[in-house]
Amino acid sequence: MLLVDSHCHINLEPLSEDIPGVLERAKKNNVLYMLCVSLTLEDFPKIVTLFESEPHIFSSVGVHPTCRGVREPTVQDLVELAADANVVAIGETGLDYFRSNGDLQLQKERFEIHIKAAQKTRKPLIIHTRSAADDTMKILEHNYDGETGGVMHCFGENWSIAKRALDIGFYISFSGIVTFKNAEPLRAIARKVPEDRMLVETDAPYLAPVPYRGATNEPSLVKYTAKAIADIRGQSLYEVAEKTTENFFKLFVGARPSHL
Ligand SMILES: [Zn+2]
Ligand SMILES: [Zn+2]
Repeated sequence: MLLVDSHCHINLEPLSEDIPGVLERAKKNNVLYMLCVSLTLEDFPKIVTLFESEPHIFSSVGVHPTCRGVREPTVQDLVELAADANVVAIGETGLDYFRSNGDLQLQKERFEIHIKAAQKTRKPLIIHTRSAADDTMKILEHNYDGETGGVMHCFGENWSIAKRALDIGFYISFSGIVTFKNAEPLRAIARKVPEDRMLVETDAPYLAPVPYRGATNEPSLVKYTAKAIADIRGQSLYEVAEKTTENFFKLFVGARPSHL
């Protein structure tokens, strides 16, 4: 059985203090591949250095919508940085009105820059949206060329938003939230998303799944999210692991490596 953590930030503390331990525990829990998602351009070189010797750890390049006082990316910056061998995606990008009281126009412009970079590099988009789903979808529907693909990471919206994302060919990624007691509406969505469009993620170090809720999250714990989805859908953990792994490679890498 093979699991993939499609979205984590193991370059952040406290995970960054013990990368070998994090990777070892992940491996023990069948999590061989993971995508370490960039939050700022300042972060990006550190991610690259950290994982230069780990070809099974992929990364993305992008600036998170809520990051302020950081280097503002141009399309050209993103295109150049995305040329690194392990970069498989652009993001995370999108809109977040929950934690933002600042300039929402800046978020929108930044988001559009990422969409353009995805088009230029032919790499999929990692979308973050919070309290801004309709605006996020409008910008995507208006600007996205329908070809590079992408994922709605840490999905927490309603079915109509899921449907709009699926309609433009995007994947839906579920995090540990799906294991939370009050997440019944999200479980209803996890039941309905087509099997060939779902992914699982940790968003580590945040959002640890039950029974580790509140603790530091790490890639090894993605199995609890996959198990919850399997239970919701009446499938085995093995089936969900296989399918989400296949989906990950289809979206981000092109094909699953033949030795897996
Ligand atoms: Zn996010
Ligand atoms: Zn994230």
